[in-house]
Amino acid sequence: MTDKTENPAHTSSGWRTATRLLHAGVERTPYGETSEALFLTSGFVYDNAEQAAATFTGDAVHYQYSRFGNPTVDALQRRLADLEGAEACIATATGMGAVSSALLAQVRAGDRVVASRALFGSCHWIIASLLPQYGVETVFVDGGDPDAWGEALSKPTAAVLIESPSNPMLDVLDIAAVSERAHAAGAIVIVDNAFASPVYQKPLELGADVVVYSCTKHIDGQGRVLGGAILGKAEWINEVVLPFTRNTGNALSPFNAWVMLKSLETLPLRVDAMTRNAAAVADWLAEAPGIVSVRYPGRADHPQYEIAKRQMSGSGSLVAFEVAGGRKGAFAFLDALQVILISNNLGDARSLATHPATTTHMKIGPEERARLGISDGAIRLSVGLEDSADLIDDLARGVAALKSGGFAAG
Ligand SMILES: *Cc1c(COP(=O)(O)O)cnc(C)c1O
Repeated sequence: MTDKTENPAHTSSGWRTATRLLHAGVERTPYGETSEALFLTSGFVYDNAEQAAATFTGDAVHYQYSRFGNPTVDALQRRLADLEGAEACIATATGMGAVSSALLAQVRAGDRVVASRALFGSCHWIIASLLPQYGVETVFVDGGDPDAWGEALSKPTAAVLIESPSNPMLDVLDIAAVSERAHAAGAIVIVDNAFASPVYQKPLELGADVVVYSCTKHIDGQGRVLGGAILGKAEWINEVVLPFTRNTGNALSPFNAWVMLKSLETLPLRVDAMTRNAAAVADWLAEAPGIVSVRYPGRADHPQYEIAKRQMSGSGSLVAFEVAGGRKGAFAFLDALQVILISNNLGDARSLATHPATTTHMKIGPEERARLGISDGAIRLSVGLEDSADLIDDLARGVAALKSGGFAAG
């Protein structure tokens, strides 16, 4: 795979991605500040009562209240839309705010929603538990099974939600093929693109209608603030989603938007460096004793390697692997690490390791975990910006713990 981070089709100004991530979406105040201003304000004042009234009727353009709109949040929305090649963007308080608002704004009681089974834990809960509570029929599909998609989409459907690569086992779905089937059933296709990041995958180009992000992950990229984004066609964003997010209070803090604007300046640099580390770590793990299997979209032994190669321009910073010894082996491995931190976040500059079966995917239960291939020995590794030799030395501590614990032969 190449490390291509730009796509001329998205270039509104003729500039390439790295340039636009520094300059797109900026609207300077009369002070001419170099970096974006931070408008940390809840409300806005009017020159007179007439202007306030005209703002509320829509006859005057003026900020009203930061739940409705804020200049710093707007700057982030413009830059994210520019990066994604989307007509419009709404920034939300969290990634789950983006997923839940996109779905809840779209569907009505009696509608049908189809989702791939391999979803982030909270996304899974929205499909399995929340939507049915409001009279929405929901169906899970094994994402790699074309017959299952055919069957699930044989009836009119309002929305399809997929994640690729998926959390935590990095299943890769054919976004173009799923989108085509979904459109035939009348559905809009929402892709949770958190794992690939906007640097490596452009779902809208592959035929999807909506992209959602947890900006908490690679977009902030340094584990500091929560945020999310919904991107799609201007008409859908403004008429379907915006009234929902504004009135339900799913607004991003201007401070968090300002942190993320700064982070976007270095997004491709960070993601490319993390990906180089991840590829090195995945190859090392694949040869290490006590490591039963490794899943990385950039390795030819990934089950959907060909699809990944076709639809992603880089393989990403996440690696999943299974250690010998099940839960005990995984805990011994994790507890031996000194550089890599045990944490359920991802996309951080610091490498983070997670045991999905007892944390992020604990609530879905053993049966569903088995269906998703999340074994008790599975570990999800979000590879950061450390020196890859230090990461490999650290993983060697984990491997040594497998040997000394009797989980792996020497
Ligand atoms: C983290 C994550 C989310 C949720 O994002 P938050 O910002 O934590 O709300 C949704 N989808 C995926 C794939 C994620 O990794």
